[in-house]
Amino acid sequence: MEILPGVHRIGVLGSSVFLLEGRSLVLVDAGPRGSGSRILRYLRHIGRSPRELDLIVLTHYHPDHAGGAAELARLARAPIAAHVAEAPYLRGEIGMPNPFVRHQALAAAASPLLPWIMPQPVRVDVELEDGDGLPGLEGLRVVHTPGHTPGSISLYAPARRLLLVGDALEWKRGELRLPSRFFSEDLEEAARSVQKLASLDARTLCFSHFPPADQAARRLRSLAAGA
Ligand SMILES: [Zn+2]
Ligand SMILES: [Zn+2]
Repeated sequence: MEILPGVHRIGVLGSSVFLLEGRSLVLVDAGPRGSGSRILRYLRHIGRSPRELDLIVLTHYHPDHAGGAAELARLARAPIAAHVAEAPYLRGEIGMPNPFVRHQALAAAASPLLPWIMPQPVRVDVELEDGDGLPGLEGLRVVHTPGHTPGSISLYAPARRLLLVGDALEWKRGELRLPSRFFSEDLEEAARSVQKLASLDARTLCFSHFPPADQAARRLRSLAAGA
């Protein structure tokens, strides 16, 4: 569904990916493994072809965001961009940490399923750093927001006052919160990332697992003040 002109939120299993339709066509995140055909179906539904996809940006390496990347890169032949800190994991050069590692019971329960859940190695064509510009929306840029994972990135489009935070924040019962303590690698770092996001003049906040929120700057500043 189109949540702002040219900004689409596409539901995949357990999360959302975003399609940015400006002069370039950019997909933010790839969903869990098996999401490729669903995402490409959405593209066709809005009259675009998978071949028009210019870039797939991954907000971080968790399997619910990067799992569909290998399949999509193959089907759409689009390059993949991710933060420099996570590129070696995504390429399979370093083993990815168990995403459930901070929740013992869940880690044990999920462990036999990991071979089917974890992302398959994928080519990372563009290694991103804080402040890098991206196509898709006017002025779109990378904001490095580590904490949930070391290479978590948010994307900010100042002309639209739109901020996509992936899993760097949660939005529950009308309240903005730090990322899940069960799935985040460093909560102190996550709190520092909130300070960074609070300096932006964002209006609309988009999350991977929650509906969008308005009044982004006000909510971010109040979270930053209490964090
Ligand atoms: Zn995550
Ligand atoms: Zn997630």
